Amino acid sequence: MTAIGILGGGQLGRMLALEAKRMGYRVVVLEPTTNSPTGQIADEQIVAAYDDLRFIGELGARTDVVTYEFENIPLASVEALEADRRLVRPSGAVLRITQERLLEKQFVRDCGIATVDFAAVAKSADLPAAIERIGFPAVLKTTMGGYDGKGQWLVRSAAEAAEAVMAAKGRALIYERFAPFDKELSIICARNAAGEIVTYPVAENEHDGGVLATTIVPARVPAAVADRVRRSAETIAAGLDIVGAFAIEFFLAGDHLLVNEIAPRVHNTGHYSLDATTISQYEAHVRAICDLPLVPPRMLVPAVVMVNILGGGNGDRLGGVNELLRDPDIALHMYGKAHAALRRKMGHFTALGSDADDALRKAEAGRRKLHWIDNRALSRA
Ligand code: AMP
Repeated sequence: MTAIGILGGGQLGRMLALEAKRMGYRVVVLEPTTNSPTGQIADEQIVAAYDDLRFIGELGARTDVVTYEFENIPLASVEALEADRRLVRPSGAVLRITQERLLEKQFVRDCGIATVDFAAVAKSADLPAAIERIGFPAVLKTTMGGYDGKGQWLVRSAAEAAEAVMAAKGRALIYERFAPFDKELSIICARNAAGEIVTYPVAENEHDGGVLATTIVPARVPAAVADRVRRSAETIAAGLDIVGAFAIEFFLAGDHLLVNEIAPRVHNTGHYSLDATTISQYEAHVRAICDLPLVPPRMLVPAVVMVNILGGGNGDRLGGVNELLRDPDIALHMYGKAHAALRRKMGHFTALGSDADDALRKAEAGRRKLHWIDNRALSRA
């Protein structure tokens, strides 16, 4: 294989493209906007809608394998490529399950792995039965298309649940029991067509308003919990027959481990692997989809913390970078996005440490140095 097609032009595609190019592949991206984070890196970009089958076909024709950097692309586009005998990894069969929350949770349960209790709310008439069975508090989520907490409503009463159903404007919903978790965990796993599976160290994640803020690796959990996470990932990888790198997010409540969701793609909680492991999640993905061997990744340092740099909504230039980069244990990654809209993922940095506390201290110090410079201040200067 010599050329990889990527559906989606965001930061995940960008880091994937950078690693693919390092390894000697040509990269073609299809994404609706020009000058996207991935488009800036790719050899070629096709600027088209994800459901424009003519251009989707063009992406398939120009590459040896097509992959995707987010799961909200239309299934029909992947299926059209497959019908055209193009190789798509992960396959349409994997995408079908993982882009729909009900199918995904049922799949996980069928693997013998626990999830939160859930019920389908396809229409408002389904709500009373869901409330009756699951109770409050609960989270209503659109079954498809949500990300970073979008399309989600925390509800504590029948009135709030009814309001959420109204706000969803007819979209199909899943009604989930709220998990009173102590920690959110995740794992990156990769599998190739030969059936080789590798797992990354378990990560511990902190979200803020539904958006990932910080990832700490390795997670500060007992070895037995980490082992269960790893085994669940291997079971899910084999059960899905997935080819590629992917992530699974978990809730840990006491010693109850529940799968929250599967992302059939490289993942924000795996960014740390670029700086802290022998083989990044991006390289693992390239290896998996290009039929190269998968070997277990090793940590290069005892601990690492990844901090997302989110837009402030008031300025597009990041200040404090000079100060940040004085720390030799910090690596900065920016995504080439022009506008730092409020809470938009603009970049991240990783802090390497001798243990989790050390990495967290450096990360916190780094976070305090960064700020957005008001556009008006720049135009006055
Ligand atoms: P998701 O899009 O499903 O990953 O949800 C985004 C974030 O919302 C999760 O990482 C949790 O912090 C929170 N969340 C989602 N579902 C639940 C739930 N059933 N119980 C508690 N918190 C949840």
